[in-house]
Amino acid sequence: MHESTLHRLFPSAKFDEPLKRYTAWKIGGPADALLEPRSVDELIEAAEKAREHDVPVTILGGGTNVLVRDGGIRGLTIRLAKSLTNVEVEGTRVTADAGVLYPVLANTTAGRSLAGLEFATGIPGTVGGAVYMNAGAYGSETTEVLDWADVFRDHEVVRMKNEDLDLSYRHSALHENPGWVVLRAGYTLTSGDASELKARIKEFRTQRMNGSPNRPSCGSTFKRPPGDFPGRVIEAAGLKGTRVGRIEVSPVHANYLVNLGGGTAEEAIELIELVRQRVRERLGIELEPEVRVIGEP
Ligand SMILES: Cc1cc2nc3c(=O)[nH]c(=O)nc-3n(C[C@H](O)[C@H](O)[C@H](O)COP(=O)(O)OP(=O)(O)OC[C@H]3O[C@@H](n4cnc5c(N)ncnc54)[C@H](O)[C@@H]3O)c2cc1C
Repeated sequence: MHESTLHRLFPSAKFDEPLKRYTAWKIGGPADALLEPRSVDELIEAAEKAREHDVPVTILGGGTNVLVRDGGIRGLTIRLAKSLTNVEVEGTRVTADAGVLYPVLANTTAGRSLAGLEFATGIPGTVGGAVYMNAGAYGSETTEVLDWADVFRDHEVVRMKNEDLDLSYRHSALHENPGWVVLRAGYTLTSGDASELKARIKEFRTQRMNGSPNRPSCGSTFKRPPGDFPGRVIEAAGLKGTRVGRIEVSPVHANYLVNLGGGTAEEAIELIELVRQRVRERLGIELEPEVRVIGEP
């Protein structure tokens, strides 16, 4: 696609924008066009226009569970974190736009004496990304509190119920439907005591700070293998501290592959494959990546 066509179609986008500025791993080549829509209408209009002109569309939330490859992303990338951030509370029902950050939602709901989303404090992505991944922590996950999500699909917004979203461990129906976009989500919580909920959030945060490396990463790189933990398995395979270029298996928590500064997506992919191969050879365990790899090599 010629650059001037993208300029004409999406005049408020940023062009040739390095995506490493928008990912937790601080890795990622340029987006041809990066749009941060200020409203759901602007998002839908851009998505429709893109489809009409055969421009591929990629959705980015907080960029906390993606590995954007070094060649970047062709066509239009729509980033929802920091735009689309409205939260509405009515009794125990909460509606949050796709771009609301999960830790913010945890704080907001706890402050309104609503229990159920305290676990979200440890998950740095957006509501949209959390539905996509069925994100979870500390023994809870999104599906336990999510009622519905408004999903833009095939020219219309469909309110999909929890049971139609096919939510399971770090999976949703959106994985099989790359054109779908989560616009907002509805949760039902329970009444609680604000100060107790805030104390719980604080406790979760302290646990996090003590157990996580203080370097750019995508959090957990691999999913839990049956009956085990990827961090334990990788450590048992003797891989803590293993490096490819500037990406390292963290000595603090082996399921975090950290960027030591200047690391590339190709190095991260090589290290992911190396870890999988060694764990398979040494322990006979198959590790599946949790991180979503997108973009061009
Ligand atoms: C330090 C750290 C700790 C973490 N801890 C946890 C944890 O405890 N538990 C956990 O589950 N995860 C954890 N994660 C991973 C990550 O935060 C979650 O997977 C999160 O839900 C991803 O949300 P995001 O908005 O950043 O999505 P992104 O990384 O931007 O995108 C992830 C995928 O979702 C898609 N997507 C995003 N938004 C939308 C949307 N609106 N509509 C359609 N598709 C969309 C993207 O296209 C992409 O395929 C951690 C990450 C980091 C960096």
